Amino acid sequence: MLSPLAFELPVFVLGLLFGSFLNVCISRLPDHRSIIKPRSHCPKCKQTIRWYDNIPLLSWVLLRARCRHCKTPISWQYPLVELAMGLWFLEILSLVFTLEMDNVHGLPGPTTNDFIGIAAFAILGFLLIGLIVMDWQTHTLPDAFTLTGTAIGFFLVCVQAIFLAPGEDDIKLTPRHDLRISSPGSFAAKGNVFLTGPEHLVFGRLAAIVGAALLLLAIRAIYKAVRHREGLGLGDVKLLAMIAAFLGFWPAILALFLGVILTSVYAVILLARRKADATTHLPLGTFLSIGGLIAALFGGPVIAWYSSLL
Ligand SMILES: [Zn+2]
Repeated sequence: MLSPLAFELPVFVLGLLFGSFLNVCISRLPDHRSIIKPRSHCPKCKQTIRWYDNIPLLSWVLLRARCRHCKTPISWQYPLVELAMGLWFLEILSLVFTLEMDNVHGLPGPTTNDFIGIAAFAILGFLLIGLIVMDWQTHTLPDAFTLTGTAIGFFLVCVQAIFLAPGEDDIKLTPRHDLRISSPGSFAAKGNVFLTGPEHLVFGRLAAIVGAALLLLAIRAIYKAVRHREGLGLGDVKLLAMIAAFLGFWPAILALFLGVILTSVYAVILLARRKADATTHLPLGTFLSIGGLIAALFGGPVIAWYSSLL
């Protein structure tokens, strides 16, 4: 029999390795430096970090959070990001297990699209965890993450559209009657298919991306008109578009809602401690990204619960 940790441990270690790579992205992308060259080095004494000093989590503990050569403190960001990625990968593994359990219980097992969805979930976590730290530390949301992320999210949806079964997810105008119009793409032409499943998925997601971006641009314009200064960066607009590309429109709105609430709570705490005034920069991108992670994990049930109230 396989040990219970036969899957968890390798997946956790894989997550840690991705976390280690994410740390490189976080420390270099905001300054537009290459993430490939040069090799990892101490920012203070420039010594190249040897492989045994670059083991996720372990090296930080063994080195007691200091550079081996110049004893400069190493930020807790490094182990924390690695740990977060490790835990995100464990969460993904539990999703795979849930899908496989369906199979065991005689329900339809995981489809190709389920696995594409899980890959999207993994990538989204990587991007959002990186953006949380980058916006917090440097007030930047690099295009290398937000725009590239939007493209990857939309591409994966297009791939999912290819694997839809014929007729799956079709939008029919009047389900009870056959009309004499049909989308040109429909091959199950009953005459009333307004959008085929793939069209529905691809166009719907495209509308979600554009809609999320336009909504934030509108909020940005209103803020600027009322307060006469920039409150929202374009980075935040691209970030919300990215969340919409991966999760769809309503989860992106949920992320926005959570992000605004968390930012407000943070602002109130700062004001109460007299550490901020009305012009202090608030890392909205950090909180939007946290909202995105929550929407990815719990978005489905929350949105279903909310629409059941209406
Ligand atoms: Zn050093």
